[in-house]
Amino acid sequence: MSSLHRHIGMSKPSSERDDNIAWQAPPLPPNPFAAGTKVPLDPAALSAEELRIQRKREAALARVSAACLRRCPKNRWSWAEIDLSALRHNIQAFRQRLPQNVQLMAVVKADAYGHGSAKVAPLFAASGAAQFAVATVEEGIKLRKEGITKPILLLSEPPQESVPALLEHDLMPAVFSSKFALAYGECAASVNKVGTYHLAIDTGMTRTGLLPEEVCEFRRLLSFHRGLICAGTFTHFATADEANSWDFQRQNERFAQALYALHEAGFDPGLIHCNNTPATLCSPQTSYDMCRVGIGLYGLHSSALTKDLIDLRPAMSVRARVSRVIRPNVGEGVSYGMEYRVAKNNIQIATIPLGYADGLPRLLSGVMDVLVDGFRCRQVGRICMDQCMFEVDVNPRRMVRPTTEVSYGDLVTIMGSDGVNCISADDLAQLSGTINYEVICDFGLRLTKIYL
Ligand SMILES: *Cc1c(COP(=O)(O)O)cnc(C)c1O
Repeated sequence: MSSLHRHIGMSKPSSERDDNIAWQAPPLPPNPFAAGTKVPLDPAALSAEELRIQRKREAALARVSAACLRRCPKNRWSWAEIDLSALRHNIQAFRQRLPQNVQLMAVVKADAYGHGSAKVAPLFAASGAAQFAVATVEEGIKLRKEGITKPILLLSEPPQESVPALLEHDLMPAVFSSKFALAYGECAASVNKVGTYHLAIDTGMTRTGLLPEEVCEFRRLLSFHRGLICAGTFTHFATADEANSWDFQRQNERFAQALYALHEAGFDPGLIHCNNTPATLCSPQTSYDMCRVGIGLYGLHSSALTKDLIDLRPAMSVRARVSRVIRPNVGEGVSYGMEYRVAKNNIQIATIPLGYADGLPRLLSGVMDVLVDGFRCRQVGRICMDQCMFEVDVNPRRMVRPTTEVSYGDLVTIMGSDGVNCISADDLAQLSGTINYEVICDFGLRLTKIYL
């Protein structure tokens, strides 16, 4: 009995045990990256010129890889690299597009879209952001503790109980309920402060804000209050990233009508703003006084429509190092459920300490690739909470790496560039049926961030 058959005898239920039937690996699901990317390279078959180019490429890769490895955190071999020069480039690219009199509000909610607000917000403050936007009171307090002194807007209305914290840390809430506004004003007056706020208008997204027809009545109700100042009026588009959207036009018109009504009634709207990243790029006519830019500052597009309009550089890469590697026998299973089994000889199975709790979606199990030395390697087996595995085919003439096998400590790229190959946040988003926003936020949750 061969070792293969012995192995199968052990892993199959006894009722199905049959030493005479050769075990067959189940068919692999199609790998969307596979086509044309794993070029079998045999150094012996290369011409002198090809070999020279190959050596040069390897030397360049080795330098990049050595630089990455030096940055690797001490306690865990997986990390998110944040390229600060890319962030600087992106905010300058947006600044240059906006007229002098239009302010840029840097949206740094969710810990700067996973990039770490402690490092990112001061960089934006120094590179032309006039104001900041966050989603939660805690995020705002954190920014203040990190030394941000510019205005900070909370993009939605928090619970009334947070009013003292808002005043203490000078955070402007978005406001749309009179109960909240009055509580805010009362508390401000009682400590001899003024509560500044931005009035939120729901022009069609049906999320937060006053309806356009309620706006004047609302301002009238608050106008007697000496503890309140309206520092801004804004709305948010639901379809700014879609071409020729009728809904976008309608939101726009409703916003303009609400502003006109405020004007007619003699109310000062403060700073008027509505554009997010795609609207900033596609709809300069609705810039008003300020644009709220989020995803674009991190180097990503929310829509294919804007890709040709501005040159952005993705700031986040995700890397890891091989924490273990073996060459299992044919038939061995990999990871929970053993849905993947080694189907031929000379397959290396390498482990990296990065799993779904680090933001790598479990539903990408077996359908994603990682990059090693610029080559795509197929991730295999179910992605675990803190680790996952990938395979390297080291059969002669089938090697996905030209000259060497993968070994302990090697650099692995999960998102970002390595050599000529790149796996983008958009690639991962598309594979997992989501948007690049979610991909970068999730990678930011637990991974150590290394700033370049
Ligand atoms: C998140 C958010 C933004 C920023 O959107 P991007 O598409 O990332 O530019 C702007 N305004 C509001 C109200 C938001 O919630």
